[in-house]
This record gives sequence, structure tokens and C-alpha cells, in this order.
Amino acid sequence: MGIAKLAQFVTRNECILCKKFIGPVCENCLNKVFIPRSPSCFACNKLTQNGKTCPTCRARYYVSGVIAPFRHSDVRELIHVYKYEHDRSLANFFATQLQSSLTNHKFDVLTFMPTTGRRQRMRGFNQAELLCREISRGLYIKPQQTLIRTRHKPQVGASKEQRVSSVEGNFYPISHKIRHKKILLVDDVVTTGATINEAARTLKEAGALSVWVLVIARA
Ligand SMILES: [Zn+2]
Ligand SMILES: [Zn+2]
Repeated sequence: MGIAKLAQFVTRNECILCKKFIGPVCENCLNKVFIPRSPSCFACNKLTQNGKTCPTCRARYYVSGVIAPFRHSDVRELIHVYKYEHDRSLANFFATQLQSSLTNHKFDVLTFMPTTGRRQRMRGFNQAELLCREISRGLYIKPQQTLIRTRHKPQVGASKEQRVSSVEGNFYPISHKIRHKKILLVDDVVTTGATINEAARTLKEAGALSVWVLVIARA
């Protein structure tokens, strides 16, 4: 990123989407992109209460439910700016939008999806951790890291089955304070259900009672 571009982000105060009004997202654009969708099972998309994993899918997945209140197509641009242009002001903004989706829930542990050390160094921050820290202000639970993640194996050209299996073994539990606890795992977007499922499996095998995932949207 050049100096000119960097300066633009430091001083930017206009809306990311319309570039007309005050940002990071103006009132006008907010009403267009943050339209809550009906909660559904993350695996089969059947409508469920609060995004709970449906009884059929519960037999195959470790994730208790996914709270993903917004449509990916609506928020894609903002997530891209957050993730790749490193606009940290959006973390607080997203957290504010997500807050009302958490009122029907109660959690003991607030944690985030870890990235590999290499990815975090490249990006300068973990977008899931930053979002989690902002969410913690509204929940009054101190966020803690519960998982570490080792480097991905190359996935180019791999079949779907191979991709799923290559996720396995990438997570390790590092917290001993999760036994019998209800966990909320924060990430920015769910792209493959396999990754959150593997993270949930690791937490449950370490003693967690349930693992819910909170994201802005499901891709
Ligand atoms: Zn706007
Ligand atoms: Zn289902």
C-alpha cells in the first residue's frame, strides 16, 4: 500500500459505500445493507430458531448454531474493505450491527477464530479477533483465545473431500477454562462449514458444552 493510499484511510471520514455522507457507513446506506435475514441452519439452510443447527444436521456437525444476521451479497463490499484494506473502524461498526442478534443468547466464553501466524503477519491483524474484542464491550465477557491454528496445507486442485480432510488437525485447544461452558466463536464470514465445524469439534473434544458461531454473514 502506497503512502497516498494509507493517508486516505487515516483521514477518510466519508461513507465507504456512497462516498457522499459521513462514514464509515452513512445512515442511508446502513438501511440498504443491514437488512436482517431469517435465521436458518448453516448446513442445510432450513429455517430454525436463532440459527440453531437443525436436528438432522446436528447428527453430523459439532456446531450448535450459526448467528449470521446479514446477507453476504449486501455486506460483501464492506467486509472486503475491513479485511483487505484493513479499515479497523469497521470492527466497531460491525459489532454494533451484530449486537441485537445476541439478545436471545447466553454464553460463558467469548472467543475468536484464530488465523495462522503467517496470515496475521501479512495482514497486520486478525479481523475475527478485532471484531470479537468490539463485541465483548456489549456482552461484558472478556474475550479469550481458546484455539491456535497451524498452517493450511495447499488446497489448490484438491477435491471437496480432500479439502475437508485437510482442515482436520489444524486447530489445537489452548484454554482449560472451556469445560462445560457455552462458547461463542466469532469470525467475520463463514465460507466453508468445514472450518467452523473443525474448530467446534476441537473445542467440544476439549470439554466445551456447546459452540455457537457469530459471523456477519454466511458466504
Ligand atoms: Zn452512504
Ligand atoms: Zn440442517
